[in-house]
Amino acid sequence: MKFNPEQLATVNEAVATAEELVSNHFKLSASQWLKRKYDVKTAADLIADEVIEGPFAQVIRYEGRVPSDPLNSSSFDFYKICLQDHNILRILQTTPHLTLFPFALYIVTHELIHIVRFSQFLQNFEASNDERLAEEKRVHDKTHEILCALKIDGLAAVLNYYARWRDGFDDLRC
Ligand SMILES: [Zn+2]
Repeated sequence: MKFNPEQLATVNEAVATAEELVSNHFKLSASQWLKRKYDVKTAADLIADEVIEGPFAQVIRYEGRVPSDPLNSSSFDFYKICLQDHNILRILQTTPHLTLFPFALYIVTHELIHIVRFSQFLQNFEASNDERLAEEKRVHDKTHEILCALKIDGLAAVLNYYARWRDGFDDLRC
């Protein structure tokens, strides 16, 4: 199950909105943000290994290298947000009131907050399980804080869905 072209357009719109909201919230300048430390991909662009069962997204950390650097000494973290089309579409089909735009907005905002926190060293990517759970809670709280004042159709239902935060939202790996 993959997003169809219309759904992909909706997801792209949600990604653009999430980027703007997170960048404004953390007061990231355009140049800081445009260094593009991440990419957002859907099933159409994922390899088999990046597709998982259960979570709505998986964030994979890659080590980036600057190609022009002959000694290859300058590396940077690059994060790939792998949206899991099949898991998202399934929950939308089975949960009344959940719709794609606000749901994708929540997911991408949540993942971008993770990445901002990793890149500002507020959280270690390779944390213990207990730490990860505590971080999940903090990131859900922050997502709610950023989104709750917005007037977007269907957003209240999404926030309500996550009011009782549950495990298995996403997966982080290197
Ligand atoms: Zn998370």
